[in-house]
Amino acid sequence: MNDVFLVLAQAPGGLTCFLLPRVLPGGERNRVTLVRLKDKLGNRSNASSELELHDAVGWRLGDEGAGVRTIIEMVAATRLDCVLGSASLMRRGVAEATWHAAHRSAFGRTLVDQPAMTAVLADLAVESEAATMLALRLAAAVEHADDPAEAALRRIALPAAKFWVCKRTPTHVAEALEVLGGNGYVEESGMPLLFRESPLNSIWEGSGNVNALDLLRALMRTPESLDAWRDEVDAAGDERLLAPTDEVLKAIAGLGDPDAAAAQARWLASRVAVLLQASLLVRHSDPAVADAFVATRVTGEPTGVLGMLPATTDVRAVVERASVTC
Ligand SMILES: Cc1cc2nc3c(=O)[nH]c(=O)nc-3n(C[C@H](O)[C@H](O)[C@H](O)COP(=O)(O)OP(=O)(O)OC[C@H]3O[C@@H](n4cnc5c(N)ncnc54)[C@H](O)[C@@H]3O)c2cc1C
Repeated sequence: MNDVFLVLAQAPGGLTCFLLPRVLPGGERNRVTLVRLKDKLGNRSNASSELELHDAVGWRLGDEGAGVRTIIEMVAATRLDCVLGSASLMRRGVAEATWHAAHRSAFGRTLVDQPAMTAVLADLAVESEAATMLALRLAAAVEHADDPAEAALRRIALPAAKFWVCKRTPTHVAEALEVLGGNGYVEESGMPLLFRESPLNSIWEGSGNVNALDLLRALMRTPESLDAWRDEVDAAGDERLLAPTDEVLKAIAGLGDPDAAAAQARWLASRVAVLLQASLLVRHSDPAVADAFVATRVTGEPTGVLGMLPATTDVRAVVERASVTC
């Protein structure tokens, strides 16, 4: 469906990146043959195909033999897209869920006023805002790649955010879908489309493990990225983040042989991302959101299920902040 494609192909000097146009400068189609469209779980409007190239025209991009190094620049950009896309799916889920809960009455009250539901909506909102903040902070780091501190932060925050935000999305979307009850399971609600889309960003451009392992690579090859992460977390000046930050630093210092380190990769990526989210929320969000996040994701035991916020959480404030009004 695209006008141009980046492809890798073997040139005499090794694997090389090429820019392949769909339509040639003279107006005729390039020799790209679609063998079949893939029958995908979702994401159908963004067609994927098996294709063959017979005498197709492609222009070299970057040096011959430097294909992977060249195309990886695109991968970094599209990994950011994955984080932004997943954060957007969550936000859409929150918008649909809070709207439905504000208008549907059950057992004598609107759903949003049923305490068990208010807690679910608040937790959905907290997760969504944390994802949005991290995605936008990452986007700023990508935009300021000429600043060494921002480049170092991007190196560690990109795989961590790609791993964590994309991983959280299917759970989040499923819970938002459930807020609509049976209607959420029906296509007209729009929620099944979000649900089918929700696992994709985690697979795209390197699946969960691949990104978690990339975080280990960042720690090994660019140690300054860890300093940049620590500075970003410390910028919150919040005592609640100190011990969890030390725990991560100790774990990194004690990483063993490559296999032992790889077994820790998911835990590390999740903690690196969650502490960044906590710092951002403390600095830029409503205290009700930041406190709920810290209590359930940083200092408290994660339950894996949304809607279990501490009784002290100002759930109404959190839900009102996230609700769509018109
Ligand atoms: C809708 C869609 C569109 C796509 N579009 C494109 C496209 O335009 N261009 C393109 O080039 N590709 C495209 N892809 C491919 C996509 O980038 C890959 O599917 C994705 O990066 C995962 O790679 P893989 O399929 O080779 O899985 P594998 O690399 O085989 O991974 C399989 C599983 O093993 C895990 N794994 C891999 N390595 C390790 C390891 N060392 N340790 C532990 N676990 C590991 C992964 O996390 C994953 O869970 C698309 C995929 C989808 C679903």
